[in-house]
Amino acid sequence: MNQPLLEVIKLAAHYGVSQALFDVNLTIYPGQVVALMGRNGMGKTTTVNVVCGLLGCSSGEVNFNGHGCGQMASYKIARLGIGLVPEGRRCFANLTVRENLLVAATKGEWTLAKVCSLLPRLSERLDQYANTLSGGEQQMLAIGRALLTNPKLLILDEATEGLAPVIRQEIWHIVANLKQAGQSILLIDKSLAELLPITDQCVLLERGCTVWQGEPDELDADIRDRYLGI
Ligand code: ATP
Repeated sequence: MNQPLLEVIKLAAHYGVSQALFDVNLTIYPGQVVALMGRNGMGKTTTVNVVCGLLGCSSGEVNFNGHGCGQMASYKIARLGIGLVPEGRRCFANLTVRENLLVAATKGEWTLAKVCSLLPRLSERLDQYANTLSGGEQQMLAIGRALLTNPKLLILDEATEGLAPVIRQEIWHIVANLKQAGQSILLIDKSLAELLPITDQCVLLERGCTVWQGEPDELDADIRDRYLGI
């Protein structure tokens, strides 16, 4: 098999004196879609924050594409090729759609035109301010902005949270298209019915520790009940 694109080994992290991660382990190979799962407050977003350099790691390793980046600044990690669609979208409200998309764009396969063809709702609204978009459109803008950084790894943290069913389906369709095109993706989402069919590997967190890893069809009722409360 190829070298891992992302390797998280025995990761621990704190918010001040409060320890949130104890022993997180996670591997993503190029072209894989990996789902990071667990009940509320188990450490999924914190793991993403450490991988993206938004929170320092206390111990353990984060290796991305051959670079140790556990202590690296977030802008350097972004340059290595991690594109984050954060929980809550965080678009720049007072910039237009076009400005939001281009603010961190880099040269590569993903251009403004290609993003607009993947996300046609955006192409109709390029000169509109981001704060005039609906929640679903803002989510698409966050996805488009991350793609324009031409990421080797795209991270989607709760990308369908709080959206209308029809928009959620649109986003799942977009994610499936990206997977088919070979994009490596780390997904956090609570909608198992949509998540599992496009996932290659599941990683389950419980109180800041990886407690189970496997393929979606190995995620039996007992494991779902124990770690996901389903
Ligand atoms: P959710 O599904 O609710 O988003 P999660 O699995 O992403 O949950 P995290 O947000 O990573 O969980 O939280 C892990 C732990 O860290 C929780 O105990 C949470 O209360 C704590 N935590 C998260 N953010 C902070 C913060 N900024 N300061 C202090 N503690 C935090």
